Amino acid sequence: IQWFPGHMAKARREIEENLKLVDVVIELVDARAPHASQNPMLQEIIQNKQKVVLLMKQDLADPVKTKKWITYFNENEITALAIHVNNKNDIAKIIEVVNNKGLEQQKRLLNKGVQQRAVRALIAGVPNVGKSTLINRLANKKIAKIGDRPGVTKKQQWIKVRQKFELLDTPGILWPKFEEQLIGMKLAAIGTIKYELVPTQDVAAFVIDFLFEHDPNQLEKRYRLTEHDDMWDTFVHIGKHRGALESGGQVNFDKVAEFILQDFRTGKLGRITLEVPE
Ligand code: GDP
Repeated sequence: IQWFPGHMAKARREIEENLKLVDVVIELVDARAPHASQNPMLQEIIQNKQKVVLLMKQDLADPVKTKKWITYFNENEITALAIHVNNKNDIAKIIEVVNNKGLEQQKRLLNKGVQQRAVRALIAGVPNVGKSTLINRLANKKIAKIGDRPGVTKKQQWIKVRQKFELLDTPGILWPKFEEQLIGMKLAAIGTIKYELVPTQDVAAFVIDFLFEHDPNQLEKRYRLTEHDDMWDTFVHIGKHRGALESGGQVNFDKVAEFILQDFRTGKLGRITLEVPE
C-alpha cells in the first residue's frame, strides 16, 4: 500500500461518516506492537464515543507483556482485551463487552431523547491486524474482504452478532504511523507494512538483533545460533542451517531474510512482543 495525504484524508472522512452510525468503536491493534500499530488519529475523531481496544494475535505475543499492556490501557481508562481470533472464549468476551459498552452509550443519549435501538459497532485498525478475520468470526460466516486501501467502497451492511449488537460489515482501515524508523521496523516485522517501504533484509536484521537482546534462547533453539557479533556471519550461519543456498553454494541473503520473518510471524521464534508500555 502507498499512503498519501489524499488517501489519509479520504480514510479519515470515511471513518468519520461511519462513526456517526455507531455507539462503539472496536479498535484493533497488534498485541506484538500495540503502540506502533495504533493510529493516533482515531482517538481524535472518536471523541466521546465508547471504545474497546482489542490486542489481536495474542497467541503470537509474549503473555507477560500482553498483561502489562492491558494494565496500561486500563490505567488510562480504556477497556482492552487480549484476543486470539480462534479462541471461542475470547470472541464471547468481545461480544459481551461491546454490547455492554453500547448500552452504556445509549443510556447516556436516552436522557437526551434519543430512541433506543440495537447497539451498533464498527471495527477499525491498520492493515493486516485481523479485521476481516474477526468480522467473519463475529458474523459466523464469510464476508468478502475489501481492499487494504481507503476509497474501496461497497454497499455497507449490518451484521447481527449473536442476537445482540449490529456490526458494520466494512472495517475502517487506518494508516500506519510512519514518523519514526523504529516504528516502521516493528510494523514491517509484524507484517503491517509491505517491504517496498523497508527492505526485507533490514527487517530480518532488526528481528535478529531484538531476539539476541531479549530472548537469545529462541535463536539457539531454532537456528543453533549461540553468538551474534556480526549480521553478515549470522545470516550465513542461518542460511546454512536452513539451507538457503544458491546453486553455487553461496548463501542467498534474501531467502534467509524471508525465512527469519516467516519464522517470526508464525511464532516459530517464540511468542515475541516488540515493545512494552512507557
Ligand atoms: P485485515 O487486513 O486487518 O483485514 O487482516 P486479516 O483479517 O486479513 O488478517 C491478517 C492475517 O492475520 C491473516 O493471515 C489472519 O489469519 C491472521 N490473524 C488474524 N487474527 C489472528 C490471531 O488472533 N492470531 C493469529 N495467529 N493470526 C491471526
